[in-house]
Amino acid sequence: MMTFQLRDSYDVVVVGGGAAGLNGALMLARSRRSVVVIDAGSPRNAPADGVHGLLARDGMPPAELVERGRAEVRGYGGHVVRGEVEAVTREDDRFVVSLADGRTVRARRLLVTTGLVDELPDVPGLRERWGRDVVHCPYCHGWEVRDQAIGVLATGPMAVHQALLFRQLSADVTLFSHDHPPTAEQAEQLAARGVDVVPGEVASLEIAGDRIVGVRLTDGRTVGREVVAVGSRMVARAGFLAALGLRPVPHPSGMGEHVPADATGRIDVPGVWVAGNVTDLSAQVGAAAAAGATAGAQINADLIAEETRLAVEARRDPFSAASEARVAELVAGDRRHGW
Ligand SMILES: Cc1cc2nc3c(=O)[nH]c(=O)nc-3n(C[C@H](O)[C@H](O)[C@H](O)COP(=O)(O)OP(=O)(O)OC[C@H]3O[C@@H](n4cnc5c(N)ncnc54)[C@H](O)[C@@H]3O)c2cc1C
Repeated sequence: MMTFQLRDSYDVVVVGGGAAGLNGALMLARSRRSVVVIDAGSPRNAPADGVHGLLARDGMPPAELVERGRAEVRGYGGHVVRGEVEAVTREDDRFVVSLADGRTVRARRLLVTTGLVDELPDVPGLRERWGRDVVHCPYCHGWEVRDQAIGVLATGPMAVHQALLFRQLSADVTLFSHDHPPTAEQAEQLAARGVDVVPGEVASLEIAGDRIVGVRLTDGRTVGREVVAVGSRMVARAGFLAALGLRPVPHPSGMGEHVPADATGRIDVPGVWVAGNVTDLSAQVGAAAAAGATAGAQINADLIAEETRLAVEARRDPFSAASEARVAELVAGDRRHGW
């Protein structure tokens, strides 16, 4: 990633440069807003070979997708910098964004698109193979594992649902009941769809060379499998917002923690918007990008409303120097920097 000198202040700081953040920044840069994306460089799907289910970009490597996005944002004058945001505080009517490397930058509005962390059960082999032959999402990599011997590791409330989804892709699906055995009703559904259920606790994955060959149980049995599907606990990355009084809360689905927002990404803290996986745990790349674009447009509209209100105040009271100065700063200020 190219390194830009951070300016002191922007209309909008976007924290997180995945699909959501870059699409938000694209909308803002095209609206002639000064915008910087600060990105730590670890999109959630980084371990995957390709982004699937995304119209016109199906199969594109995740790194290439974000690289294209960065180029598009820069093409309209937006900045994209590598960095990790450590904290955000408020100072008067600005946000002060502090990076781990000691840099700070001010912003009138904040778009948070930092995604989530996939917490995996403590079963040896899962983390190492995550995104390759340990999978979670039938829409992301289901086609790629079609007709293979798939084991679904039941570690949460969605495991049976996951097994039934993968059954659509392969006739050879086994549910390892591990610490979430199916209810009697679920067991009947699984049996009716031809999904085997293996009771008992899973100890580890059996890996030979560069592939999974089986699932080992704590009682010593091994069941041959080529692919393991598992649900992660999805936890929004939002610790750096604590000083604004913002913390992720449990998601109603039981799948993890998120930052709740309205349909436009607006949250309870004035001036802050969220988009993508940080708020919508199940958003895929297309949905994350769309949410980022919506939030970007909303932020632009919010800034326009503020600038218009101040312009009207100044027009009504042309002798109000403070008001005029404020308008001049808000409306024209960042054009000093070329926007
Ligand atoms: C293995 C795997 C495969 C997947 N495959 C697909 C697929 O095929 N198709 C599909 O549509 N979806 C897929 N997904 C889902 C996809 O990853 C998400 O939909 C998408 O990444 C969400 O985009 P986002 O912008 O919200 O978050 P992310 O893409 O995760 O981007 C967040 C960015 O914020 C940065 N960041 C985090 N904290 C900070 C901080 N404090 N300061 C600065 N930067 C920060 C991160 O480094 C990251 O670059 C897959 C997910 C996984 C786990």
